[in-house]
Amino acid sequence: MLDKYFKALKLYGYCATALLLTLTSVQAQPDSTAQALPDVVSQSEQSLVPETSAVDDVVLSEQEQAIQEPLQEPLQEPLQLLGETVEPGTSSILTWDLESSFSDITAPSSVLVVNGTKPGPTLCLTAAIHGDELNGIEIVRRVMYELKADKLSGAVIGVPIVNLEGFKRASRYLPDRRDLNRYFPGRLRGSYASRIAYSFFYQIVDKCNYLIDIHTGSLERTNFPQIRANLSDPSVADLAGKMGSIVVLQSRGGSGTLRRAATDAGIPAVTLETGAPNNLQKKAVEEGVKTIGAALRSLGFTSKSFWQGSKEPVYYRSRWVRAKQGGILFSKVALGDSVKEGTLLGLLSNPITNKTTEIRSTLEGRVIGMALNQIMYPGFAAYHIGLKSSAVEAAQPPEPADEVELDLAQTEKLDENGGQPTAVAAETVLASEQDTTTKPQVQEATTIEEMELPTADSSD
Ligand SMILES: [Zn+2]
Repeated sequence: MLDKYFKALKLYGYCATALLLTLTSVQAQPDSTAQALPDVVSQSEQSLVPETSAVDDVVLSEQEQAIQEPLQEPLQEPLQLLGETVEPGTSSILTWDLESSFSDITAPSSVLVVNGTKPGPTLCLTAAIHGDELNGIEIVRRVMYELKADKLSGAVIGVPIVNLEGFKRASRYLPDRRDLNRYFPGRLRGSYASRIAYSFFYQIVDKCNYLIDIHTGSLERTNFPQIRANLSDPSVADLAGKMGSIVVLQSRGGSGTLRRAATDAGIPAVTLETGAPNNLQKKAVEEGVKTIGAALRSLGFTSKSFWQGSKEPVYYRSRWVRAKQGGILFSKVALGDSVKEGTLLGLLSNPITNKTTEIRSTLEGRVIGMALNQIMYPGFAAYHIGLKSSAVEAAQPPEPADEVELDLAQTEKLDENGGQPTAVAAETVLASEQDTTTKPQVQEATTIEEMELPTADSSD
């Protein structure tokens, strides 16, 4: 009897051992059984292997969401430009050339591209369309090499020297003495300038969603850092408002300028003017970099600006004060100075007759552009006075009375006092009036290609 009991117990023990062994072997096969045994998986195991959990309504922790979200974001597309592909998250240096130019005597221009990892629009930065305007070249270099492809949304295309032939000769113009910035968007079978404009516009600018074209004053004139924009176009006004704390000057932009052509093609475009030609000016460059940095952040290209600050821009309309007499100019004001009616702007001295003539302001405003000290002739634009206004006022077309050339300060007198300055000689012209009387009308009257257009007083 007892024997039987022990035999039964022994048998039970074998069975229990066998069952235990079986269970152990089942647990050792994770692939086939893990999903079938969700209750057995501890919480810590769940967090390690969430993807194999069979629980349908898993609530992800914040940390897990942060890990998974980037995988769900759409990626930036590869950028197709100038026959090349720039992959997302990479930078590249491409080359642009007029296909039909002499490849053995003209070098192609370099085009810097940074394509971000996150999707977004494309911004174009262009400089030295006028070959003697050096500040923009350095601004583009600094901005482009500051950008990090893995932190960028969208793409930025930077062309440091558009007019390479002018740059090599330290000249504003192309070799045929034409101003490239009067020929955009150009024509395929037009003049040399028109063909270059066409190639540049349709191969590069046409790929952009925004354009910032960088210039300096021209022809011995210097500009206070400023944005020029056609504020009556809402998309342009929006872009101009995203460039940090900088003077914004209402200007429609002359026909044939890259800015005007881009805006007409539906690409919001502004000109950034800073400093003087034939110079590399530290402060002018820094202001330019700061302004573009603010734009990059406001437009969502970068999460961080090169410059932190959010002061509102200041809007201006403007008029030019011209020299009524010829002579050597010695300025009495500096860029950015505030002036009132009657403020002495500069003196013109005649080296032959020893006559000295004053140029006084006829306006209350701020000096946003001015001639460098130089020999001037009657009618030369000497001081560009910005008249503060709201963005809305600046965008309005000028009053009819302003359309005509103003001549407000002609109390000119002969100097009979041994060279003492006794005369006031200045005249003012509304800047927007210049736009409409010089560039566009001339160009609309005949083919752009055949005209040597009047040079601008300070502009893009
Ligand atoms: Zn220029």
